[in-house]
Amino acid sequence: MNAALKKIESAAGEPMVRIRGLRKAFGDHVVLNGIDFDVLPSQVVVVIGPSGSGKSTFLRCCNGLEQPQGGQIDICGRTLVRDGTMLSEAELNALREEVGMVFQSFNLFPHLSVLDNVTVGPRMLRKLSRAAAETEAHALLAKVGLAHKASAMPASLSGGQKQRVAIARALAMHPRVMLFDEPTSALDPELVGEVLQVMKVLAAEGMTMMVVTHEMDFAREVGDVVVVMDGGGIIEAGPPETIFTAPTQERTRSFLQAVLTRT
Ligand code: ADP
Ligand code: MG
Repeated sequence: MNAALKKIESAAGEPMVRIRGLRKAFGDHVVLNGIDFDVLPSQVVVVIGPSGSGKSTFLRCCNGLEQPQGGQIDICGRTLVRDGTMLSEAELNALREEVGMVFQSFNLFPHLSVLDNVTVGPRMLRKLSRAAAETEAHALLAKVGLAHKASAMPASLSGGQKQRVAIARALAMHPRVMLFDEPTSALDPELVGEVLQVMKVLAAEGMTMMVVTHEMDFAREVGDVVVVMDGGGIIEAGPPETIFTAPTQERTRSFLQAVLTRT
């Protein structure tokens, strides 16, 4: 889908993710201090900010891996949490089928082949037959460029290949939103591009995505909105062009300077 079309469709849609007053603390350490944010259908939201600013916690709250103390998250048409009350465990599991998550550390099942890593969720949770799940898994592996690795074990793969399997596995659940938490941070530099390329294809197909990353070229090229977090809050958000060329916050400027001069 071209960018203009995507924008029009987004403008017409209800938010896919609606966050109001989100507060999360670990003990008396406040980590998210009242976040308000909307993600529209097919938007790619790139979240940046210094280490410890709350980016992972923010994403983890969005699929119920963390329980916030306050505020509300509506996602995929359901209220995930409101004022500290979460969906039941069964409802959470149903929600997680619609909200895929990819972590820095791949988290593949080491004892299962690539194919079985991708089919286990659909077989157990979507109740697909083995044959149907495998047909779909082969198509997804082809999509991430790993058709030839179906029978390989995770330990034999490079980091970039593992991460592409992790993406295929998440897609096998037919998510409506995909959350990525620093998906390329654990990779050798020469393997980063192959993972970002898969993410670009997903974005172009209209997947709604929230992506925590330090890959600023990806943020510029693929992001519709860049969110800058610091100290547990969103300090500014806007189109990549604005954030990168004319940030309003001094903290954004110094963060970008630090990241962009690192390479
Ligand atoms: P980021 O992803 O931006 O680096 P995190 O969301 O991981 O930030 O962490 C934000 C803050 O919350 C940090 O100070 C971190 O130490 C703290 N934190 C994160 N997870 C936990 C936890 N499970 N228990 C206690 N503190 C945590
Ligand atoms: Mg993090």
